[in-house]
Amino acid sequence: MAMYSETIPLHAIMICYPLQGHINPFTNLAIKLASKGFTITFVHTQHVHQLITKAQPEETIDDEVDIFSEARKSGLDIKYITISDGLPLEFDRDLNFIQYMESLIYDFPSVVDEFVGNLIDSDHSRSSTFLIADTFHSWPVRVSRKYNLVNVSFWTQPALVFTLYNHLDLLKENGHIPFRGDPEEIISCVPGVKLMKMKDFMSFFLDSDLSTIVHKIFFQAFEDVKKADLILYNTVEEFEHEILSALSQKQPGFAIGPLCATVLTNNRVSRSLWSESDCSHWLASMNPGSVLYVSFGSLAQLDEHVFVEIAQGLLLSKMNFLWALRPGIVKSENDLKSECAKLSDDSEGRGLIVPWCPQNDVLSHHAIGGFLTHCGWNSILESIWWRVPMICYPLLGDQLTNRKLVVDDWKIGINLSDGEIVSREEVAEKVKRLMSEKSSDGLRKEVQQVKKILDDAIAQKGSSQENIKSFVRELKAEMH
Ligand code: UDP
Repeated sequence: MAMYSETIPLHAIMICYPLQGHINPFTNLAIKLASKGFTITFVHTQHVHQLITKAQPEETIDDEVDIFSEARKSGLDIKYITISDGLPLEFDRDLNFIQYMESLIYDFPSVVDEFVGNLIDSDHSRSSTFLIADTFHSWPVRVSRKYNLVNVSFWTQPALVFTLYNHLDLLKENGHIPFRGDPEEIISCVPGVKLMKMKDFMSFFLDSDLSTIVHKIFFQAFEDVKKADLILYNTVEEFEHEILSALSQKQPGFAIGPLCATVLTNNRVSRSLWSESDCSHWLASMNPGSVLYVSFGSLAQLDEHVFVEIAQGLLLSKMNFLWALRPGIVKSENDLKSECAKLSDDSEGRGLIVPWCPQNDVLSHHAIGGFLTHCGWNSILESIWWRVPMICYPLLGDQLTNRKLVVDDWKIGINLSDGEIVSREEVAEKVKRLMSEKSSDGLRKEVQQVKKILDDAIAQKGSSQENIKSFVRELKAEMH
């Protein structure tokens, strides 16, 4: 194992998973650790680098863009490197998403292996070098063992989701997987997990076919993470105490979230895979708390009829809305450009539709009064951070499980639809309920309370601050 020396800073090689919901917390983690004196080598794939570069405003486009140059100017020691993901740069990853995911399992590991090997060979301070890789990767044990590095796994979703994936074998033994078809079936076999029903399980494991590439990613990743030395979770202990404490019986883990708070205290670092539209002028023209922000994140898709019902529901509600409608988000043969233009016209100035926006800036704006979200974990943490209550419409994966936390456990959001089908009337009713001060008073009070938990966690002596210290102690101990 690499040795720690007091005279050499801890050096993390950080290898991110190439999806937006992973890039954001990973970037924030790099900034957080660098601000605590770590040296960071931050690795993106060349493809991600290309997307981030293209997403820059016209005047700053530069192939040599180093996303951490501003952070370095403020004294942070972060080196930025790009490597291949195993596919040619011109390969269409959107069109061939399965092949892309396969390549991350089968081809990317040897690229990482070679990269880490070369880095270690050329790095004279290697004695304090260690690895931080996203839990979604399937290769960290192999690479860290080969180069004798402490292996830290970083989990970007709630600990609840982690523990469910981590106990897939137990869930199989207890007959929950494959799914038997009863959404009300209660799961009680996972340590620390209470009141969990199959309907709130991650969508991938509600399928009857468990042999797709997505299942392969989870099976392999969770075989691998069981052998990690340390785990970092982007959550807070007070949210998921029993689960985290059950997990820590098996492996040392540290809840150090919410990492979205890091965005506020540091220079801007480019991380967006799409160009961000500036919505500030439009928002400035709106009354405080009067705009509903709508986004379904970076990956999930909407069926065309759901898109139409949500759009019509927004119009019917007569509320103001800002919708970040990512290109390709709607599964449709039709060109939706004209639909979007019509939606914008029909809203008579009440609606603004953009492809992508700086979400934290939007959520922090005083004009925003609610968030219609797909329940991505980053979006939830950001919404709580800015004290914005939510309407939840989960679409896939962990979003179903995250919804339970927001609506059933913390009571800071409502469901978009109480049944299987989304109707424009129900959308309008829920939007009005969330946006009306009177009917959402309870939600707003709750979100203030939950936000306080986040504030306390990152305050001096708060749980996340203390957990970072414990992480550093354990890391050094692992190196001795
Ligand atoms: N995001 C953004 N602009 C948008 C939509 C999303 O910057 O128009 C960011 C958002 O702030 C969040 C991330 O993209 O940090 C999405 O992550 P999340 O976990 O919420 O969902 P995912 O995209 O992984 O489904």
